[in-house]
Amino acid sequence: MLLSQLQILAKLSEVDVQLEELREELGDLPYEVEDMEKIVRDRQRQVDDTQQQLDELLKYRADSRIRIQELKDREVRVTEQQFQVRNNREFDAITKEIEDSQQEQRTIDRDMANTHLKEENVRRILDQQSKDLAEAKERLADKEKELQDLSSDQNEEATALIRQRSDLASRIDGDVLTNYERIREYHKDVVVPIRKGSCSGCFNTIPPQKVVEMRTYKRMDFCEHCGRLLYPEDMQALPA
Ligand SMILES: [Zn+2]
Repeated sequence: MLLSQLQILAKLSEVDVQLEELREELGDLPYEVEDMEKIVRDRQRQVDDTQQQLDELLKYRADSRIRIQELKDREVRVTEQQFQVRNNREFDAITKEIEDSQQEQRTIDRDMANTHLKEENVRRILDQQSKDLAEAKERLADKEKELQDLSSDQNEEATALIRQRSDLASRIDGDVLTNYERIREYHKDVVVPIRKGSCSGCFNTIPPQKVVEMRTYKRMDFCEHCGRLLYPEDMQALPA
């Protein structure tokens, strides 16, 4: 009775170690994908902001060109009117309007000249940001692929192991299973064989008398040093 329990426990421990190794294979990859996603989002936002700046700049310039054309057309009409004025007041008013119009055109011209430098600068920034974004997207795609490949292989293996684990666990006495889970908080491998007179978990020497007694399978024996559950090296494995 105890022998079969010990055999099941040893198998359970083996399955748990395999499951743990599977988890470790994934490692930091899921977190790396998460981080990369955030970087892509941030860079996309930068590109969008810069693109908006550029759009506004180009719109300002288009509007300005329209405004200058309006001012020029108006100037032509007003200049013609100046020949038909009836008094000095009207003449002065038209002169003033032409002056104002030319002043506004000079201001717009100056601002337009500035926008060319600004545009060059914004385009250079946008170019660099777009490259950075493309690079981040590529790295994210690589990481996602890596994770996906690993996960799908893993999922299959993990599913089989989890099924096996639950079958084994159902065949172990409740108290023993509770004990097992408690030891598992400290050691991945809960159940280990005695090898060359030592616990193969921590290499602590087991008194020879105890090793001999263990072969009678009368009780569960734990390593006094690490607390792992021990079994004799020559114990038969659980039949598949
Ligand atoms: Zn030990």
